[in-house]
This record gives sequence, structure tokens and C-alpha cells, in this order.
Amino acid sequence: MSYLLFHISVKELHREFLRAGSDVMQTFTFYASDDKLGNRGNKAAEIGCNTINQAACDIAFEVAKEGDALVCGGISQTPTYLSGKGKEACQKEFNKQIEIFVKNDVDFLIAEYFEHVEEAEWAVESCKATGKPTAVSLCIGPEGDLHGIPTGECGVRLARAGADIVGINCHFGPDQCIEACRLMKEALDAAGIKKHLIVQPLGYLTPDAGKQGFIDLPEFPFALEPRVMTRWDAHKFARDAYNAGIRYIGGCCGIEPYHIRAVAEELAKERGKLPLSSSKHGQWGEGLRLHTKPWVRARARRGYWENLKPSSGRPKCAGLSTPDNWGVTAGDKDLCQHKESTTQEEMDAVISQAKQRAEVVNGSH
Ligand SMILES: [Zn+2]
Repeated sequence: MSYLLFHISVKELHREFLRAGSDVMQTFTFYASDDKLGNRGNKAAEIGCNTINQAACDIAFEVAKEGDALVCGGISQTPTYLSGKGKEACQKEFNKQIEIFVKNDVDFLIAEYFEHVEEAEWAVESCKATGKPTAVSLCIGPEGDLHGIPTGECGVRLARAGADIVGINCHFGPDQCIEACRLMKEALDAAGIKKHLIVQPLGYLTPDAGKQGFIDLPEFPFALEPRVMTRWDAHKFARDAYNAGIRYIGGCCGIEPYHIRAVAEELAKERGKLPLSSSKHGQWGEGLRLHTKPWVRARARRGYWENLKPSSGRPKCAGLSTPDNWGVTAGDKDLCQHKESTTQEEMDAVISQAKQRAEVVNGSH
């Protein structure tokens, strides 16, 4: 019974995005490789990569047929890479997922959310070996990948690895993601390579994030709500992305169907259609013409929402935060992963490290 309810809920989520204007139903298989499903005592290992990826394909295909959407199979970075186990071990994890996507004949593959271009290149190789069109996106910003490789160079390396679409997803808000894509485009142009670009930013605004993105912000992951983009931020994002030459425009963590609807509405003229769910409310708040209060009716116009500076409602909160900035990445012993649950000794060690670093930041050392 619980499996059935889960199935229905995931299907409904796909359906909301479809009605909001999504052209692609991406299998909900983020971090669904066997090594991640079993990392640090995660019980999802009992279900396993095969079952999860197959169920995700069934659900995505079923909803895609209700509209005119493509189905895309998604893979992502692995704990195997962070633990330094090398190319063959990483590709083994990718291939188990890809095999299921190919068996289900998805329209294309996406390798997304890679912090290191090297691992993303290996993922692209695995995807392209199937003959399927392949998109790839790194979860990096304008400062480059976590091994210090410049963002533009990362784009060129992924294109040379064979990807058909290259770009950025997650870890940063729309402005930083578009800037990172712009750096990739600049480097691709300079290398004489023509590829389509993809951008799928967070639904959060992160002008203060460091190289590691929102993972380093003290609010990650349970207090990010004050940073959520408004639907009007999403309109601006869609226009900025389009103007930057990006044609695969979507979203990652924190993005809800209403954000995607805003993207689809902003680009309605370019796409030649409005999303299904636009029928009920009118664009740029036009539905407010029906409101009983006159001052709210006065907000039924683009200029009002476009120029609004929304308040957070939190009087003592700053507009920006200081990122943690531990600076550890693949190759560092603290990032080695294991199947066993995180021990109390490991917890004590990270908490004491966090406290020491906080004292340094606060100037008591
Ligand atoms: Zn994300």
C-alpha cells in the first residue's frame, strides 16, 4: 500500500510540472546509484538501483504520454568518485542506471550535478556509449569546479567528451548559474565548438555563496525558505537565460511547478504556446482584476511585481550570510564514504571541527 501511495504521489508531481509547461519528464532518479543508496547506512540500498530506476521510468513515461513531453533518464555524481576509487568503479555505477534507461528507450540521457569535471567526463562517456543524445551539467558556479578547473574550460572538456548539451545545474541561484553558463559559452565559442546550453538553477537566491554554492551557506538545507525565488524572479531568470543564448531552461532544488509555469509564461511567445495551467489565472497577476479589495486590484499589472522588493518578515536577519567554506573535496580523507552508518566518533570529530572554525571566524583565536 505504501508503495502504491508513493507511486501516485510521484506521478502527481510529474503531472504538475507537465501542466506547468515542462517539455521533459526527467526520471526522479537523482542519487539513485547503488553506492549512494547504501551510503552511510542508507536503508534505500534494500530497494536498490534496479527497482528504483525502473519505477521512475514507468512513472515518467506514463505522465509524458498525457502531454507531448520527452522522457530523459538522469544520473548524478557518486560517492565512489569522492572516495577516490577511479574511473572504472564510477562507470560501473553509472552503467547500472543507464542500462535501465536504455532498456526503457528514454529519449535522451542527462548526467547532472557533478562537482568535478573529471567525473562528469566519465559519465558522458558512459552515456554516449549507448548512442543516446546526452546532456551534462555541473553543479558549479563562475569560480570553477572543486578541483580548481575554470568553468569555461569545464564546458569545453565536456563538449569534447561528446556531450550534445552542456551547462550548469543546482548549487547556485539563477544569476550565478547563468554567469557560469556564459563563461562556458565564451570558452566554447573561442574553441570553435557549437553546443546547446542547459541551465537548471536552484529555486533560491544565493549572491553570497562561495565556490561550493548553497551547501556552504549556514541555512543549508533546513532554513533556506527566506531565499526562495518569487514567480516574478522566475520570469526574470527565464528572460536572462534566453538572452544569454541558453535554450534548455529548467530548475533544480527549491524549484516548484509555479516557477516552471513562470518560465513557460515568460517564454510563451518564443515557444508559441502557454502552459495548460496558465488558463486559470492570467499572466502577471491579471487574475487580481477579480479581487474584492481595490488596492489589490491595483496590483494586476507587470510593473508592480517586476519592481517590488519583497520583505523577509525577519527583522534581525541580514540580507546575506557567510559561507562555511571548509574547502574539502574529492581526494580529502574527510570525504571518503562508507556503507556503515556514520559513527558517534565521526560526528564528534565534525562537530568539534565546526566549533573550532566558528571560533576562528568570530575572532576569538
Ligand atoms: Zn539541486
